[in-house]
Amino acid sequence: MRLGSMRRWPNGRPGISTTMLRTSQMRNVSALDKRVSSTAEAKIASFDQRLPTKKQPPLAAMPNAALFRSLLFTTIMSTALLKPAMLAMKLIASHNARFLSPAKNPIIKMLLRPTFYSQFAAGENEKEVGKTIQTIKNQGFTGVILGYAREIVLETYGRTPQPVDSPTEAELCDIELWKQGTLRTLRMLSAGDFLAIKYTGAGRVAVDACLSNLPLPPKPIEEALDEVCNEARQRGTRIWIDAEQTHLQPTLDKWVIDLMKRHNRDGNALVYNTIQAYLKSARQNVVNHLKEAQGGDWKLGIKLVRGAYIANEPREKIHDSKQETDANYNEIVEALMKKEFPIAGNHGAFPDMQLFVASHNATTIQKAYSLHSQRIKEKQPTIYVEYGQLMGMADDLSCELLRLRSDDLSSSDEKTRRSAPKAFKCLSWGSTTELVQNLYRRAVENTDAIERTQNMAKALRGEVLRRIGLK
Ligand SMILES: Cc1cc2nc3c(=O)[nH]c(=O)nc-3n(C[C@H](O)[C@H](O)[C@H](O)COP(=O)(O)OP(=O)(O)OC[C@H]3O[C@@H](n4cnc5c(N)ncnc54)[C@H](O)[C@@H]3O)c2cc1C
Repeated sequence: MRLGSMRRWPNGRPGISTTMLRTSQMRNVSALDKRVSSTAEAKIASFDQRLPTKKQPPLAAMPNAALFRSLLFTTIMSTALLKPAMLAMKLIASHNARFLSPAKNPIIKMLLRPTFYSQFAAGENEKEVGKTIQTIKNQGFTGVILGYAREIVLETYGRTPQPVDSPTEAELCDIELWKQGTLRTLRMLSAGDFLAIKYTGAGRVAVDACLSNLPLPPKPIEEALDEVCNEARQRGTRIWIDAEQTHLQPTLDKWVIDLMKRHNRDGNALVYNTIQAYLKSARQNVVNHLKEAQGGDWKLGIKLVRGAYIANEPREKIHDSKQETDANYNEIVEALMKKEFPIAGNHGAFPDMQLFVASHNATTIQKAYSLHSQRIKEKQPTIYVEYGQLMGMADDLSCELLRLRSDDLSSSDEKTRRSAPKAFKCLSWGSTTELVQNLYRRAVENTDAIERTQNMAKALRGEVLRRIGLK
């Protein structure tokens, strides 16, 4: 498996000498941990006791039920059964086939629950979600990211935005339902976890305000988010705002920057914005975020993803090849970790920020972890970093991160202990019907990453054989 070689990577890079360190840089690193919320850190420490031991392979952290389900699922996704399974899923997700809706057809619900739903979804209510979160934390994950799956499906491409200043009763009801669903989700989380939010979940008003390029969200949406942020702060939970389609994103960026300016106070990155590295404009967008935060009295939070909407986006806005997207992602991570992002024409101090590396790509995670731990060990300036994968995806990579954390934390060297990676799993919750679109997207992502799915199936098979004593 990919990360197995991580330990063999040279952590030191040519041309970097510790003797060249300035005292201010050293102070920079030692201040790093202090800037993270102490509640969250205490919570994290309590989960570290459950990490896999050195003698066990990384997948040993997975409980039997999840291991066997994942093996069954990835095997299906990497064999000839893939085509019929995807066709069925597409039909179910399609709004035209109402008799195939899990809400109307109990047989469909029965088929989805133990397969797609259990693989990718956390549950339908507090009890089920709580159990899933506990299972994940018992494996040693630092925390979870949880989002409510209810989506308002509105065609946004080519849509002519309607006025948003006097929403109807029904539209206000959509916003209220979105807020209540978000608060309910937040209350399922603990200190150190993240709440995932999509602005467009608030419905027509949010979408049209976005398409109209309003500098701030309409009042009912702004007030709802302020309420959510205030409660999240009290609970020690952070919030990330998901990135959506390109034609909505510039406005969403403005809204989230405003939210960060108001809520990321006192050295606390309560809110993170998401930047999509597959966009040719991503580097400039990172620069814009850094400029906004530079010299300010608030802390920037960035979650970096490659981007999920390639099939629907104007192709010219996205890097021409997968290799270019990969290079862009890895370069952004590297420049941020080194605090060397070129902020053209402005030579002030690098702003206070935190980074969440959200990816299933093993090379990306390898590079990020290697560079980050190298910089901590060599007392070079760097930023606070966390890692995450989606539930049911890249479990072998997630478990490898747990193994690295376990190894680092058991070191006698204090700097190695501080470089231990913090790994999260990202979950969606909701009814089978609410999650159908979401499950279909996950299934498509697995199909697109067929090689990774095959690797994961191979790693899971190896672990099953080990557990039954055949390896
Ligand atoms: C925790 C988490 C949260 C996420 N949140 C969001 C979110 O808020 N918004 C969002 O949009 N996505 C989100 N994603 C999905 C993400 O954007 C990617 O689609 C997904 O993770 C696959 O990318 P990867 O980094 O895992 O690596 P890989 O699987 O190695 O990369 C696949 C990605 O590369 C890019 N790509 C593929 N082919 C090409 C090509 N020919 N040319 C250019 N680029 C190409 C696409 O972005 C594709 O998704 C999230 C993912 C995770 C793990």
